[in-house]
Amino acid sequence: MSIDINKIREDFPILQQQIYKRPLVYFDNAASTQKPRQVIDAICTYYERDNCNIHRGVHYLSVKATEAYEETRKEVCEFINARNTHEIIFTKGATESLNLVAGSFGKRYIHEGDEVITTIMEHHSNFVPWQQMCMERGAKLRIAGIDEKGDLDLDEMRGMMNEKTRLIALTHVSNVLGTINPVKEIVAIAHQHDIPVLLDGAQGVSHLPVDMQELDCDFYCFSGHKMYAPMGTGVLYGKEKFLEALPPYQLGGEMIKDVYIDRTTFNELPFKFEAGTPNVEGVMGLRAAIQYLKNLGMAEIAAYENELLAYATDKLSGIEGVTLFGTSVHKASLVSFLIGDIHPYDAGMIIDKMGVAVRTGHHCAMPLIDFLKIPGTVRASFAFYNTFEEIDKLAEAVMRVKQMFS
Ligand code: PMP
Repeated sequence: MSIDINKIREDFPILQQQIYKRPLVYFDNAASTQKPRQVIDAICTYYERDNCNIHRGVHYLSVKATEAYEETRKEVCEFINARNTHEIIFTKGATESLNLVAGSFGKRYIHEGDEVITTIMEHHSNFVPWQQMCMERGAKLRIAGIDEKGDLDLDEMRGMMNEKTRLIALTHVSNVLGTINPVKEIVAIAHQHDIPVLLDGAQGVSHLPVDMQELDCDFYCFSGHKMYAPMGTGVLYGKEKFLEALPPYQLGGEMIKDVYIDRTTFNELPFKFEAGTPNVEGVMGLRAAIQYLKNLGMAEIAAYENELLAYATDKLSGIEGVTLFGTSVHKASLVSFLIGDIHPYDAGMIIDKMGVAVRTGHHCAMPLIDFLKIPGTVRASFAFYNTFEEIDKLAEAVMRVKQMFS
């Protein structure tokens, strides 16, 4: 199936509006995507017909809500081709998934003198938890660099792997540069050294088909809201052998098997990591979002978004004074740029007044921005509901910024 852009856009009510008397152009998809009517309806239907706490009741509504919740776990499992449904843990987002692993894996496996490898292109969510955990446990965080195109220095990373390395934590796709890291290759090399690999999939899962069994990574983390699902939903995929070995992350209801006054035994997977009442309505929305994506086809989405990327790269690099950051040939659909020496905030505000929503600043990746020695970038990130005409409007807005500052 190929992308029927007009039909798709009808599914997204928010895109129908005008801002500043211009049609809204939404290019902030790497921060959060918009939600199709199907997702919004799934949330409404849940509250109108099925709302109830899950896992704890024998009555009709509780059983129905629990079944729908567990069906979604199956849906996620299939979507990312995990081996087992109990390897899918629901969280409130990529950040929580990453903190869960850093906290629990750190406690269990990381000791003084050990090392963790990450990269300079990480989002703070996959950097600060490891940095702090290493500091607390007397371990060393090693940081692999990038080249001028924004590709990871794989030789450097390979050279860092040794008998002290306990984990490699890196992003699948950079939220600033768009670089798609060669994660399958990295996992294969790391496994030769018996080193597990965690992938931050926050920018991967909405753009590319991802397959846990093919990638063979040990952990994969992502957020629902960046894949057309509600905010406050997310997933941690972990291989059973690690999830079994890790201590629970939060304590409370649902994650226990038996509680006595002097001890507690913990529930089996996945419930051991799902303490308390979860975001059930969000998970209903996540199910609808996955069905929507499956209907369109991830390969078709990736192909269309690649065309948008090529068009945008061409348009922007044709404007004198525009510098693009992140020019890897393996790239997801976003462009990060600066216009001459104009501060990205100033540029972003003018672009916004032209009806085009872009993000400006350090994009929660300050180590990378420092490394690049820039104040930040303007980032336009595309989704399958965006069009070539919208990219023309971005290019017009960039020209306007140039004019205003000339
Ligand atoms: N990792 C990457 C690469 C991201 O782009 C983001 C969100 N910008 C996150 C992690 C954190 O995601 P969330 O805020 O949804 O937890």
